[in-house]
Amino acid sequence: MIATIASASLLGVEGRPVCVEVHVGNGLPSFTVVGLPDAACRESRDRVRAAFLSSGLRFPSRRVTVNLAPSGERKGGPGLDLPIAVGLLVADGQLPPAAVAGCGFIGELGLDGSVRPVPGMVPMAAAVQAAALVVPSAAAGQAGLVGGPAVRAVDDLAGLVAALSGRGRWAAPARARPPGPARPEPDLAEVKGQRIGRWALEVAAAGAHHLLLIGPPGAGKTMLARRLPGLLPALSPAEALEASRIHSAAGLGWPGGGLMTRPPFRAPHHGASVTSLVGGGTAAMRPGEVSLASGGVLFLDEMGEFPASVLDALRQPLEEGIVRVCRARATIAFPARFLLVGAMNPCPCGEGYLPGSCRCSPAARARYARRLSGPLLDRFDLRVPLGRPAVEDLLRGSPGEPTSVVAARVLQARERAAARGVKVNSSLSAGELDRWAPLSTGAESLLERRLRAGLLSARGLHRVRRVARTVADLAGAGEVVEVEHVAAALELRVGVSSILPAVA
Ligand SMILES: [Zn+2]
Repeated sequence: MIATIASASLLGVEGRPVCVEVHVGNGLPSFTVVGLPDAACRESRDRVRAAFLSSGLRFPSRRVTVNLAPSGERKGGPGLDLPIAVGLLVADGQLPPAAVAGCGFIGELGLDGSVRPVPGMVPMAAAVQAAALVVPSAAAGQAGLVGGPAVRAVDDLAGLVAALSGRGRWAAPARARPPGPARPEPDLAEVKGQRIGRWALEVAAAGAHHLLLIGPPGAGKTMLARRLPGLLPALSPAEALEASRIHSAAGLGWPGGGLMTRPPFRAPHHGASVTSLVGGGTAAMRPGEVSLASGGVLFLDEMGEFPASVLDALRQPLEEGIVRVCRARATIAFPARFLLVGAMNPCPCGEGYLPGSCRCSPAARARYARRLSGPLLDRFDLRVPLGRPAVEDLLRGSPGEPTSVVAARVLQARERAAARGVKVNSSLSAGELDRWAPLSTGAESLLERRLRAGLLSARGLHRVRRVARTVADLAGAGEVVEVEHVAAALELRVGVSSILPAVA
């Protein structure tokens, strides 16, 4: 007899509908899974058998064939255990076909018969082609977020059989538990002094300009970077769904019961591999840090310590807003639109700015500076040197403006850009700059002097103009970009040669 059960598998951050066909026939006892299963799928045979025995169900000693359709697509992960088990029960005559009509199933089976959550419940629930979806109770919250099929929760295989045959009840969905206490985002009021650092953060948030902070240890680079997500507007409904899908596919939770609403903050360590940064790795192709940061901030602390291969891998997502990961059978595109914040010391010992205190040899300084390729350095619209905060500020300085006040200005500036039909100022093309950021005579002659003196490149000119547009928006200025906006933008884009002297 044949049973057909609806389910889904995960490929990247997308759910794909899967039809699980189970055939039980005469012949020597065997159990075969076909239809491009990965290793975890093939092993479901052993988990299903053990779960049957632990749950007091009869495991058919007949010839069992499981086909995962469509057969041309690779299926990954253990989430197909549950539909395979249900199909086997129907095909073996232990459950009537009517009991599972219109139902889809996703879940991993434990050897003890328990039903366990798998990564990617948000995208997979949206892909299942069924009126109702049975999932592990711990994943019922995520499965219900997408407005797909009606969700039913189970804790174990025996309970599932009882509920499907009308002898028992469905389990209560587990309450969504945040993965730790939901901490409020850190507030900018805690940063004392640091006028230029705070200002750079505000401009970065308002125009979505990538930001490089350069300064010695203790200058507060990390403290500033962690306060950037708080300045960004809440995620739009589309961004919230996308961020939730990505986090779900990575097997990560988030605070609160619904979709993610706040921009994420990711800070991979400089020891991170290229795979963990851009994604891939398993047959299911997990999203990497650049995708987990999508819609929010990717913070690379000690950027000079990252291997060149890892930094090079950032170039495609920075240019295209997506990252493509190739495997033998498929190329997957992951969303990767993030605001990049880099932090680094000016030299290996960290004291590079302060005359007389740097202990590095010129060769060591040059090697360190060359780690950052010119094209990557060029991506930063904002390059800001930071010093350690003054003792006076630390002891007696009054608290700075709180996040809420700065975030309100950021939102207004973003609304001004949106009114021109521009998503963010950092994406303005050269033509759009001429149209939306015309220069006053004074602003033009200031830029001309910089260009003639060789202090600004052609590419740098566009970047300065985009930042100047953001500065003007923050100031509530009109359509013309004035000389003070350009001067402020130039202050926030310090020449590479002056912050990393060895890369002149
Ligand atoms: Zn040094």
